[in-house]
Amino acid sequence: ALMLAYSPGQICESRLKPANANLELPVRAAFVILVRNSELHELRATVRQLEDQFNSRHHYPYVFLNDEPFTDEFKQAMEWATSGDCHFGLIPYEHWSMPPWVDRVRAKWAMAMMGSQVPYGDSESYRKMYESGFFFQHPLLADLDYYWRVEPGVEFSCYIPYDPFKFMADNNKMYGFTISLREFPVTVRTLWKTTSAFRAAYPEYTVPNNTLQWLTTPNGGYNMCHFWSNFEIASLDFFRSPQYTAYFDFLDRAGGFFLERWGDAPVHSLAVAMFLNKSQVHYFDIGYYHSPFQNCPTDPQFNAEHCFCNPNRSMIFNDDSCTNSWLDL
Ligand code: GDP
Ligand code: MN
Repeated sequence: ALMLAYSPGQICESRLKPANANLELPVRAAFVILVRNSELHELRATVRQLEDQFNSRHHYPYVFLNDEPFTDEFKQAMEWATSGDCHFGLIPYEHWSMPPWVDRVRAKWAMAMMGSQVPYGDSESYRKMYESGFFFQHPLLADLDYYWRVEPGVEFSCYIPYDPFKFMADNNKMYGFTISLREFPVTVRTLWKTTSAFRAAYPEYTVPNNTLQWLTTPNGGYNMCHFWSNFEIASLDFFRSPQYTAYFDFLDRAGGFFLERWGDAPVHSLAVAMFLNKSQVHYFDIGYYHSPFQNCPTDPQFNAEHCFCNPNRSMIFNDDSCTNSWLDL
């Protein structure tokens, strides 16, 4: 049964893959991965870990998204590395370009000024804001209720003994994170102000028992805390909601994705804080590493039996983590 039926030039099924067409998944969910062809090997390492720690027992599908067509080499490698169905999507140009109302000269100037101050300060591609406003609109996600964001190069450093998607569905969770930290202030100078303007324009969208206090300084500003969105397990209904889409459109019109460098992490986090209550958000204590930070479960027995990470290095012990203040809310 483990025979490889490979003929050159043809995309073929992985040796790990069961007859997925007949698979009954408990939740309509998938891994969603924005990735370049050139990141094939970093992603292969990541996906093999994800399979070993979790998905080889569940066979959730994968959606790979790219602003350029995936190569046959990339598709073949992913088919072989995964135990779930693979779907390869192209991002439409309108979702990957500077909107016409942004002043290109000012944007270029802002990028030059930010240049060497912060990571990606002078990067236009970093500002495409695909993860802020567009990924959930891709047709390949239309039939899904939940997604798990994965990036090339990340590591899953512990066995995952339960199904996080099913956990989300069974417990009415809308958003799950594993690492939180603080943003570089220069990238979000007017994000808080713009968000306050949004709240004033749409007062009905901020829920009464919101968690904005988690993000607020004693004098009412933004404390730079955010969920690190390179790991995210979330409900797609959250992103597709009128609240979230109105918020993204408001921010997009304000131009700060390009004139500053608003990242999808603070944007998602502010939306979570406004639109959800605490019980709808879950801290997943999953073994996870994205350079330079990691979450490493600290329970001695669990760590010893199931992990290959050092619990003393877990972000939870870093002063820049906002997870303890989240849990204390
Ligand atoms: P960082 O985590 O903030 O340092 O940024 P990354 O370099 O990890 O980029 C975030 C995600 O977007 C990763 O999944 C990348 O593979 C993906 N990504 C970034 N730029 C591009 C691009 O130009 N094209 C494609 N297809 N993916 C990209
Ligand atoms: Mn990354």
